[in-house]
Amino acid sequence: MTALVDRPATAANVILLDDDRWDRVLAATHGEAAACYQCGTCTATCPWGLVAGPSIGVRSVIREAQLGIDGWAEAVWRCTTCGACEARCPHQVPIGEVMLGLRGLAWRERTAPGELSSVLWDMHWDGNPWGRPPSTRSAWAAGLDIPRFDPGIHTTLLYIGCTASYDRRAQKVARAVVGLMRAGGVPFGTLGDDEPCCGDPARSLGNDAYFERIAAANAAQFKVAGVTDIVTVSPHCYDTFSSHYGAAGDQFQVRHYSQLARDLIAEGKLTFSGLEATSATFHDPCYLARHHDETEAPRAMLAAIPGLELAEMERSRSETLCCGGGGGRMWMETPADERFATARAREAAATGAAYLVTTCPHCISCLEDGVSVAGARDLKVIDLAELAMLAGCVSAPTTSPEASHD
Ligand code: SF4
Ligand code: SF4
Repeated sequence: MTALVDRPATAANVILLDDDRWDRVLAATHGEAAACYQCGTCTATCPWGLVAGPSIGVRSVIREAQLGIDGWAEAVWRCTTCGACEARCPHQVPIGEVMLGLRGLAWRERTAPGELSSVLWDMHWDGNPWGRPPSTRSAWAAGLDIPRFDPGIHTTLLYIGCTASYDRRAQKVARAVVGLMRAGGVPFGTLGDDEPCCGDPARSLGNDAYFERIAAANAAQFKVAGVTDIVTVSPHCYDTFSSHYGAAGDQFQVRHYSQLARDLIAEGKLTFSGLEATSATFHDPCYLARHHDETEAPRAMLAAIPGLELAEMERSRSETLCCGGGGGRMWMETPADERFATARAREAAATGAAYLVTTCPHCISCLEDGVSVAGARDLKVIDLAELAMLAGCVSAPTTSPEASHD
């Protein structure tokens, strides 16, 4: 053990370095913090600076990861992995991965927040992080007569995800996506009650070992089922399948539903009757706009709706403001005055738009709360798929919607 002293030693300014500890932190973060030169841009960018309560102190966390010392124990759990800091970091430090690596170390050392264990146990016993019965996973689809995915009939697996399967509000989004795909003439099915959790909650809470087991099991299940093309309701599932399944993910292509709709519109297979003149502002989910640089697919859908005018917020596209629901934060309590979504709702209301549109079940939940807390009563939060259905999403004349029902 070594004492580093740059001023006369007092209890307050001595940092004790422990070689074993340094090894463990370095291994957990894969040495990714090494490139940091402590400019502080990340701390200045982090949305925790916009709300009441403690900020993360991102630069300090990265410094602690560099030196292999503690101090990050509470801060890392506040990170929403929104990617705003990384986008501005001049040394391309993968800050979100460092945060998740430190969370992983906390799991191994049994210092992770106790309440998060129940999320992982719910995934283990029930196959979803909400602790809901697996036997009711497909209850969201009541009356829709959605077929079981069959590779001999269907090109595409519609993957619903846990939140859209069980959350009453998000279930409406799943049903709207079904309408969109049927209107576009896409032959698709689902896995019904056998649909597995994609693993995002385990990964975003930093439990990589558990996530790897889930990913391997899911890849095997998809292979047996003959799945080669997946469309997701949530950007988080899209990100998980497309970026974190490693080589196993090469067996299928993955699109978020907005990307499928963009393609259908471009091919002339999907059109909209239109809305009475109205306006919308669009909230880019971090897991599309920043993690996948996908900002145009949703806007192509919005532009295809006659009668709809888009009023952009200043923070849009890759500059979007996180809703607060990523990085496992959906399973953690956030006091009302510390919610990013309240600030986001105010930004949306300032555009004067009638609709606050987004494309993520977590964003919907956070933004509806934000609109309520901000008192923006005239602003309606809506998913883009729901707006598309309101706008009279219709098949092109040459396409039979019945083709997708069998
Ligand atoms: S922005 Fe990048 S280089 Fe600057 S302090 Fe943060 S992690 Fe380090
Ligand atoms: S990823 Fe987002 S929440 Fe996490 S430290 Fe960076 S800016 Fe802050």
